[in-house]
Amino acid sequence: MPDFFMGLNEDQEQLRKWVHDFAEKVVRPVAHEWDEREETPWPVIEEAAKVGLYSLDFVANIFSDPSGISVPLVMEEMAWGDAGIGLAIFGTTLAVAGIFGNGTPEQIGEWLPQCFGTPDKVALGAFCVSEPDAGSDVSSMRTRAVYDEARDEWVLNGTKTWITNGGIADVHVVVASVEPDLKGRGQASFVIGPGTPGLSQGQKFQKMGIRASHTAEVILDDVRVPARNLLGGKDRLDERLARARSGSGGSRSQAAMATFEKTRPAVGAQAVGIARAAYEYALDYAKERKQFGRAIIENQAIAFKLARMRMLTDASRLLVWNASWRGSSTGGFEAAEGSQSKLFAGETAVTVTDEAIQILGGAGYVRDHPVERWHRDAKIFTIFEGTSEIQQLVIARVISGMHLQ
Ligand SMILES: Cc1cc2nc3c(=O)[nH]c(=O)nc-3n(C[C@H](O)[C@H](O)[C@H](O)COP(=O)(O)OP(=O)(O)OC[C@H]3O[C@@H](n4cnc5c(N)ncnc54)[C@H](O)[C@@H]3O)c2cc1C
Repeated sequence: MPDFFMGLNEDQEQLRKWVHDFAEKVVRPVAHEWDEREETPWPVIEEAAKVGLYSLDFVANIFSDPSGISVPLVMEEMAWGDAGIGLAIFGTTLAVAGIFGNGTPEQIGEWLPQCFGTPDKVALGAFCVSEPDAGSDVSSMRTRAVYDEARDEWVLNGTKTWITNGGIADVHVVVASVEPDLKGRGQASFVIGPGTPGLSQGQKFQKMGIRASHTAEVILDDVRVPARNLLGGKDRLDERLARARSGSGGSRSQAAMATFEKTRPAVGAQAVGIARAAYEYALDYAKERKQFGRAIIENQAIAFKLARMRMLTDASRLLVWNASWRGSSTGGFEAAEGSQSKLFAGETAVTVTDEAIQILGGAGYVRDHPVERWHRDAKIFTIFEGTSEIQQLVIARVISGMHLQ
């Protein structure tokens, strides 16, 4: 048995420091500007590509780390720098995960490099699941993919909404219904390559937070893709549909669940990054700011807030690391630890950033200080990638063994 050890080794510490330096020197200084502009920060993405942070190699390396720790280390540091810019840089990994999780080796080889492009011409990926009437309930999806046998093509029609990088991505991975009667088990994923006719961006949303990250509708109007763009291939889909029709195909939703458990800690790690940023800022401020002739931290009311903020942030990180390790090749889930980590870290980020505003008083409420931005950024972590309510539903189902509604 190896020794039990909860610290980082030298390589992990080096990775953390490298990303932290980028977050501190490149991301933080421009975070306010891109939040105000509400635009994709292309120069920052290009800089990340230039240093190798935004690249297939780097992403493949961190996601294949058998300890599971590399992804949360990177995500926490980037979100500490700025969660919106962090998502602008790493939102592509949602599409990458979709291709990697469902594609054949040939499809992975063909499409993953196109999600990143090159440092001279960076590309983005988008993962399109949500629809106006299918958010938490993905099984009610209406986007249809119909096979046109004569041309050996799939034809997609529908509207996707709230899509990170939607319409500006070079590679869109779209989940569509191929057999609506089978609901969630009658769905498949398709890759839509650059410049495909029929795919367009609908409304671009003006958001409360993470405003450097582009979120928009994606309209699919008779989008035709070659049959080989069906992830996993037609034979595998036909087998899966046959199993679902005969009532024996329960494994797909379980497989999808397992995938979500693996990706949720990465989202939780971003929430930890925001909470840590706010805690650190509030701690410094509380030591500096004087009222009634003493630093405000000398009041227990303030010091205890900071103690709690630190505890909640550290507890979030432990849940995230535990879930990341469990999602790696060495771990294994017992009680939806991925959902636990995302739920707790997301709620913590909202609480901690709220308390940070309180500690700064009026200064916390204005844009001269970053804590109000961090609070706006934090809120998305209780909503996307499964709302807090849905995380609790997942955990409750796993621990009870019952299909609770
Ligand atoms: C900034 C941003 C980026 C996003 N990026 C992407 C993306 O890249 N790709 C993508 O596919 N989607 C993306 N989404 C969509 C996101 O995943 C959904 O918003 C989320 O899943 C919730 O769906 P909904 O908004 O339709 O809310 P609804 O499902 O309508 O939920 C509304 C409320 O009802 C609650 N609720 C729903 N069902 C239940 C239930 N059974 N029990 C208890 N409570 C319930 C929810 O928790 C929530 O509080 C993004 C969203 C945002 C805001």
